[in-house]
Amino acid sequence: MIIRKSPSELEKMRSASRLVAEILDEMRGMVEPGISTMDLEVVAEKRVLEAGAKSAFKGYYVPAAGSRFPCVLCTSINEEVVHGIPSKKRVLKEGDIVKIDIGVQMDGYFGDSATTVAVGEVDAQKTRLMEATEKSLALAIEQMVPGNRLFDVCGAVQRHVEGEGFTIVREFVGHGIGAKLHEEPHVPNYVDHKMRNPRLREGMVLAIEPMVAAGCPETHVLADRWTAVTTDGSAAAHFEHTVAITEKGPWVLTTK
Ligand code: MG
Ligand code: MG
Repeated sequence: MIIRKSPSELEKMRSASRLVAEILDEMRGMVEPGISTMDLEVVAEKRVLEAGAKSAFKGYYVPAAGSRFPCVLCTSINEEVVHGIPSKKRVLKEGDIVKIDIGVQMDGYFGDSATTVAVGEVDAQKTRLMEATEKSLALAIEQMVPGNRLFDVCGAVQRHVEGEGFTIVREFVGHGIGAKLHEEPHVPNYVDHKMRNPRLREGMVLAIEPMVAAGCPETHVLADRWTAVTTDGSAAAHFEHTVAITEKGPWVLTTK
């Protein structure tokens, strides 16, 4: 069942989502060659605690990993797609791209957003990859109006990404979000005809998150049992917003 949110619930989700957007903005400003992913984590965790919020990720248990995620951020560099763990040893260098993903809970409700940031100058392929992924998210958000269907959202991502010559990672998908970080429905970044295709209604909130590879889309998980990488080692990009469907159209909650 897809849980629809009341206006007062949406306001709570907006507060959590605004904090997420503010932290991501600060992270974007910090990214430069020589910074470690743990440097980002330390500042992000401080901001979460200062705001009286709770990390959505730190302590999140995933059976396949067999452990709780240790940090408030996921930081994934180059061929790492998602779920990279911040570390002092992971120092960003010129030409890298880093995906930063953060979710928080405030007042019982979640916000979740991710971005991909260039470290200094990056090559033309990585630039195109980031642009195509971010654009596919924008096109998907445009489809989030009452009366459309879920596949309109999924298809908007897929059409743009594949039209730009990139590939969709299939092992990870977007999701409904609310009083839980992950609610129904699954939101794949491609049209999956094995799935139901529910009509979108006012009050639904989805975390739309295209994960896109420059080469082959297959991924596997590293020995840390969290970090997902492209199997061919090609670069990946990831952008995410938490978006509500309202009678006036899509409301992107994860903005400042
Ligand atoms: Mg996220
Ligand atoms: Mg998410």
